[in-house]
Amino acid sequence: MDWDQILKEATHYFQEYIRIDTVTPPGNEIEGARFFKKIFDREAIPCQIYEPSPNRGSLLATLKGDGSKRPILFLSHIDVVPVEKEGWEVPPFEGVIKGGYLYGRGTLDCKSLGIIEMMALLILKREKISLKRDLVFFATADEETGGRWGVQWAMENIPSLRESEYALNEGGHIILNENGIADRYAISDGQKVIFQLRLKARGTAGHGSMPHPDNPNVKLICGLETLTRWETPYHILPTVKEYFCKMASKQPPYERALFEDIEKGLSDPSFSVWLTSSPIYNAMLRNTISLTILQGGSKANVIPSESTATLDCRLIPGTNKEEFLKEIKRRLGDEIEVEVIAESESLPPSSLDTDLYQAIEKSASENDPGCPVVPFLLPGATDSRFLRENGIITYDFCPFRLTEKELMRVHGNNERIDLENLRFGTKMLVDLIKEIAT
Ligand SMILES: [Zn+2]
Repeated sequence: MDWDQILKEATHYFQEYIRIDTVTPPGNEIEGARFFKKIFDREAIPCQIYEPSPNRGSLLATLKGDGSKRPILFLSHIDVVPVEKEGWEVPPFEGVIKGGYLYGRGTLDCKSLGIIEMMALLILKREKISLKRDLVFFATADEETGGRWGVQWAMENIPSLRESEYALNEGGHIILNENGIADRYAISDGQKVIFQLRLKARGTAGHGSMPHPDNPNVKLICGLETLTRWETPYHILPTVKEYFCKMASKQPPYERALFEDIEKGLSDPSFSVWLTSSPIYNAMLRNTISLTILQGGSKANVIPSESTATLDCRLIPGTNKEEFLKEIKRRLGDEIEVEVIAESESLPPSSLDTDLYQAIEKSASENDPGCPVVPFLLPGATDSRFLRENGIITYDFCPFRLTEKELMRVHGNNERIDLENLRFGTKMLVDLIKEIAT
C-alpha cells in the first residue's frame, strides 16, 4: 500500500471538500453530497443522494459484504458552523495548507472524518477485500442544528440503516499529551440527556420610579439564585467509573487510589472539589444546569409584567426526569412557572463488550503500546443519539491524534488539522474493518 500516495489523494479531496461552503444555516449540504457522489461513481461504489428538504442533501454509499454479519455505518456530517472571518489567519473556505496543517471550517468538525471514511471505502474496494458485512458510508445534512433533515429523518425513512449493528461517528479522539505522545484513546459510548426548561415569572407592570414587591424580574432572580447554587448529587455510571479507573495510572501517586474507585474517591471532600472544578469531569459525574438566556423588561423606567429564563440541563442517562423537574420547581419556589421546551430520550451507553471495541483496543496496543482505551460520557449531544435510539451500538470515535489544545479550535477561529491524521485515520479505519468484517 502506497500510503504517501493515499495521503496525497486524501489531501486533494479534503481541500475540495473544505472549499464547498456548507455553513448552516442554510447548510446547502447538497453540494457536499454531490461531491461525494462524483467520487463514488468514479470508483463504481453504489451510492444515492437523499434530499428531504431543498438543498439539505445527504449521501449514502454502500460497499457490499456477503451479509453473514450485520452492516457497520460510517457516519459524518456535511454541514459546518458559521465563521467570524476577521478572526482567521487564512480564508476559512479555501483549503489553505500551512506548516503541515490544513486550515478551514470543518477541518476538525467534521469534514476530515468524512474524508477518511470515504478513503477507507475506496481502499477496500480497490484492494478487492471481501467483506462479511456491508460497510455503509453516510454523510449527512443538519447535524449542527438538530438533525431534523439529516440523521433523524434518515432513521425514520431509510429502513436499511436501522439494520446496522455498529456505527462510528464524531466525538472521541486519540488525545495527545503536550509532548505529542498518545495519552488515551477516548471513545464516547454514550451522551448526556438534553432537558431544556423555560422559566417564567409574572408580576404587575408599573413605573420604575415606584418599586413594588410584585416585580417579575426580582422574583426570577431570587428563584435562580437558589437554584443555581444547587450542587446536584453525583450519579456515576459504570462507564464513567471505568473511565476514571483506566485513567488512574496517569495520575500522581497520591491520587491513583482516588481515581481507581471514583465513588469512594469523591467521598473525600477536597478531592471532590478539585475534580469537579474541571467542567468536563463535573459534567460526566452529575446532572448539570446552565442558565443560558435571561429576558425581562425593555425600558429603563418600566417594570415589566413578566420575565423569562432558559435553563440548559443535561442529565445523566437513567435520571428520572419527573423527579428532577420536581426538585427544580421546589428550589425555584411557587412563583416561577416551568415548562420543558426540549428533551432527548434517556438512552443507556452502548455496550463495550463487542468485537469492534476489541478491535479498537488491538489497534491502540499496536500503534501506542500501553496507552489506555477509555470510554467516556459525552456532555454534549451528537447525531449518535438517533442511532442508539434504534439499538445501533455507536461509538463516537474519530481516529485522529490531537492535543486538547488543538481540539479547542472546534467551532472556533483557525480550525485546522495536522494532515498526517488523514494517513493515520484512514489506515486505522481500514484495519478496523479488516478486523471485524473479513
Ligand atoms: Zn460535528
